[in-house]
Amino acid sequence: MHPISRRLFLAGSVAVVVGACSDATTSGSTTPRPENTVAATTPPSSSTAPTPTSSTVPTPRLPGDPFTLGVASGDPDPTSVVLWTRLAPDPLAGGGMPDANVPVTWQASSDDTFATVAHSGSTVATTAHGHSVHALAELPSGTWYYRFSADGFVSPTGITHVAPAQDTPTASVRFATASCQHYETGFYRAHADIADQQPDFLVWLGDYIYEGGGGSVGKDGRVRSHVTAEPTTLADYRNRYALYKSDPDLQAAHAVCPWFVIWDDHEVENNYAGLSPQNPADAAGFAERRYEAYQAWWEHMPVRLEPPAAADADYVIYRAVQWGDLLGITLLDTRQYRTDQACNDVTLSTEPPCDELFEEGRTLTGDRQEQFLYDTIGNQQTVWNVIGQQVVMTDLTFNGAVLNFDQWDGYPANRKRILAHLAEQAIPNVVVLTGDIHLAGVGQLHSDDPGSSAPVGVEFVATSISSSGNIPASLTELVKSFPDVIDAELVHRGYILHTVTPAAWSAEYRIVDDARFPDSAVSAYRTFVIDTGTNTVRKEQP
Ligand code: FE
Ligand code: CA
Repeated sequence: MHPISRRLFLAGSVAVVVGACSDATTSGSTTPRPENTVAATTPPSSSTAPTPTSSTVPTPRLPGDPFTLGVASGDPDPTSVVLWTRLAPDPLAGGGMPDANVPVTWQASSDDTFATVAHSGSTVATTAHGHSVHALAELPSGTWYYRFSADGFVSPTGITHVAPAQDTPTASVRFATASCQHYETGFYRAHADIADQQPDFLVWLGDYIYEGGGGSVGKDGRVRSHVTAEPTTLADYRNRYALYKSDPDLQAAHAVCPWFVIWDDHEVENNYAGLSPQNPADAAGFAERRYEAYQAWWEHMPVRLEPPAAADADYVIYRAVQWGDLLGITLLDTRQYRTDQACNDVTLSTEPPCDELFEEGRTLTGDRQEQFLYDTIGNQQTVWNVIGQQVVMTDLTFNGAVLNFDQWDGYPANRKRILAHLAEQAIPNVVVLTGDIHLAGVGQLHSDDPGSSAPVGVEFVATSISSSGNIPASLTELVKSFPDVIDAELVHRGYILHTVTPAAWSAEYRIVDDARFPDSAVSAYRTFVIDTGTNTVRKEQP
C-alpha cells in the first residue's frame, strides 16, 4: 500500500478535475436503477442535452462504480478527439464487469458543471475489448469538459480540445513529453506537476507499464509493488494497466489534456525486437504474447486506432499528427520492425563492436516506416518538423565502441540514411523527442561524424517519470563529454515542458526532487532554446 496524497488532487489548477471526481464518487454511490434492461438513455444532470441515440443493447446492472481508471482523451485532429475510459468496478481482478456488452454515453460541455451539454454520443463497451471505450467526439475548437455515464454511474470529468486547423497560423503551443513510469520505483509527482501545468497536450514516448513481476516494497528500491507475476496473457496485461491507471496523479495528467501515445519495449517485454523476445529461450509463444500485450495497450490508450488484427499481422501505430501550422509530428514505433540488437546486446562495453553492427540491412524502423518518415517529415507545411520516438538518436559511441546496442547507435546504417535525408532535403527546424533511457539529455544531431558537419536537428531526451536511472550518476561527466551531447542530467526523474512559437522552441526540463517520496517537490532544472532556422540548441541564459 502506498500513501498517495489526495491533496495533490485538490491543489490549484486541477481543482475542476477534482470537483468532477467528487461528483463521480457521489453519483457512483447512488442506488443502481431497479430496471436494468432498459436501453441507454439520457444520463443524469444533462438538462439540455440532446437525447443520445438509443442503443438496442440492454444495460446490465453493474456491481459498483465502473469508472475507477479515470478518463482520457487523445489523438486530437482539427475536428475531433478520442475520448477514452474503461469500465472496471474491480480493476485489479479482471475488471469485475458482467459478461455482457454495456451501453455508454459521453457528454461534452463548455462548463464544468455540465449545465448545458453541447455535444454527446453513445457507444458500447464490449467484453471483447475489456469494456474499454474509444469514442470519437466531433467538437468545435475551444475547451471542452467531458464525462461518461453507464448504468447511472458518472465518470470523473476530463478536459480536452481539438487541434487547430492545419492551415491556421498558430502563435504558440505548450506541450509535455514524458515516458517511463515504473510503478514500483517511484511515485508520479511528475504527473501531478503536468496536471498543474495544464499543457495543451502530452506526447507519451513509451514504457507506460513495466512487465516485471512484483517484488517486496523496500527491496531493490521499490516504494510500491506490482504485486502480480510478470504478465504474459491479455488478462495479465489488463490487470497491470489497471494497477498503473489506479494512480490518481496519472489519472489527473490524463484528465487535463489530450495525449498522443506511442509505446516502447516494456509494454510487451524489455528490449524485445520484432518477434524476438529478450531471451531467445522464450521464443515459443512470443507472437501470441506480443499480440495480447498490444491488445491490452490499445484497450487502455486514448488512441485513434483499431485494435490489433492478429498475432501474425503487423500492428501499425506509427502515424503523423499536426498542431496548426506550427508542429508536424511523425510518431514512430522503433520496436515492432527492428532487427534484433547486434553483438548479443551487450551494454556498456568499451570493446570495438562486432561486424554485425555494420550490416546495411539492419533496421530500427523497418523499410516501410522509414519511407513513411520520408513522406511526412518536412511535408506537413509546418514551422517545426518533429519526430517523436523511443530511443536515443544522438551519437553516444565511445571511441567507436557502442555502449547501448538498443539505441540508434546499434543501427548506424538506418540512422545515417535518415540524417542524410534531413540534410539533403534541407528540412528546417527538426526536433527529435525521445524517452527510454531514464536521463534528461540534450543532443545535437549531425548528418556526418559527431561534432563535424552542419547540424540537422536537435534531440530532447526526457528523463523518466518514475523509473530509476539506467546509467550511474558517476558517469555524468563522461556522458556530457560526448561531442554531440549539450547537457545531461542523470540523477532526477521528471519530464519536459515545451513552449513553441514560430520564432523559437523552448524546452523546460522539470525534475522531481526525489520520486521515491509521494510529496516530493517538482521544479525547473534548465531550459534549452532553439531559434528558428538554426537547428542548433543553446542553454537559456538565466
Ligand atoms: Fe523505461
Ligand atoms: Ca525502454
